[in-house]
Amino acid sequence: MRLAVRSSLLDFDADPSHTANALRFVEDGLLLIEDGVIVARDEFRALRSRLDPETCVFDYSGCLVTPGFVDTHIHMPQVDVIASPAAGLLDWLERHTFPAEARFADPAVSGEVARFFLDELARHGTTSALVFASVHAASVEALFEEALRRDVRLVAGKCLMDRLCPEALRDTAEGGVQESADLAARWHGRGRLGYAITPRFAATSTPRQLELAGKLARSRPELYIQSHVAENIDEVRWVRQLYPEARSYLDVYDRAGLLRERSVYAHCIWLDADDRARMRAAGAAAAVCPTSNLFLGSGLFDFRTTLDASMAITLATDVGGGQSFSMLATMRAAHEVARLKGTGISAAQLWYWASRGGALALGWQDRVGRLAPGFDADLIVLDPRATPLLARRTARAESIEDTLFALLVLGDDRAIRETFIAGRASKPREEPTR
Ligand SMILES: [Zn+2]
Repeated sequence: MRLAVRSSLLDFDADPSHTANALRFVEDGLLLIEDGVIVARDEFRALRSRLDPETCVFDYSGCLVTPGFVDTHIHMPQVDVIASPAAGLLDWLERHTFPAEARFADPAVSGEVARFFLDELARHGTTSALVFASVHAASVEALFEEALRRDVRLVAGKCLMDRLCPEALRDTAEGGVQESADLAARWHGRGRLGYAITPRFAATSTPRQLELAGKLARSRPELYIQSHVAENIDEVRWVRQLYPEARSYLDVYDRAGLLRERSVYAHCIWLDADDRARMRAAGAAAAVCPTSNLFLGSGLFDFRTTLDASMAITLATDVGGGQSFSMLATMRAAHEVARLKGTGISAAQLWYWASRGGALALGWQDRVGRLAPGFDADLIVLDPRATPLLARRTARAESIEDTLFALLVLGDDRAIRETFIAGRASKPREEPTR
């Protein structure tokens, strides 16, 4: 199957924090796509001669095509607790989240939510995600089955949690890690799926469970690791009591062998300089979740200090602590959090973290986050005129960077006109023009 997409094209050659002019922009561009992979990208006039009668052409002139968003931290079983108020993280877990997650032992519940969850991701322009399922293997199975059917590049894992949580959500140190290994054997590398070893957080795992998870991580370096760290002050204090021998909260994971490349830690708000240096040296990345941090009052991520420490940053929604599936809303909140800490972050930088930055943290440097031959055709079509206010503001944009900024401040799911996953348009209403 061969298709072509005509539009303005935008992606990044490099990290804007390292290189000025990292942004690549073509006003009237064309992408040629074959079997879900980009095979050519250039000016429309340079490539038009390669359009043959068999090629389906999608003409999005006036729109902007970019690589799809990569959401590096989101919870599938928390879809139904989004927008539930609480006094803070620990109260929120107890009152809303744990009861909701208990339902995911039922494969029918998991299947229904997995379909809704993947629909929402696509509707918001997120083409890849690193996902927490519940503690139940059934929830991972349901999510992977549905993602495989849609050919989504997705990484997920079952939560490991063998203490300090309701009985219905508890696994055992050995049983939970064995189940993770079994799920990984069954799903990792199938289609575009990957498995993540997923200790929920240090408090809900015994030292023994973390040790076994670390052992699995060492024996299977191709697997991903995801967890939470240093989100909220009360949580940090609690972890200090539970692991008095550790230098810091992050050090609990480090000692267990859970800090390495392909590991992504959500929040990273209350880290110190040694922690940041360890994250950098280990090749681990932070998943910064500003809408969640504001909603739960967890704290303000320190972008400046993290950038100065050269620690990898990615952006994430953290639904259901986060308030939105939208990476545009996430970028806007990141801008606001940085501002509250006295730092300005460019629109290009935010956009990079929300797409290419996430892909790099997951080791997809040659496949995801660029509009270039050989890269997966996971693309989004943004409409800068999606709402009257956006149309008015973007008509006055002075540069492509200005347009990006207007889109991330004023845009939402209405600005995502189409999402292509492995070259397939996910909204059936869009027909090729030829
Ligand atoms: Zn989370």
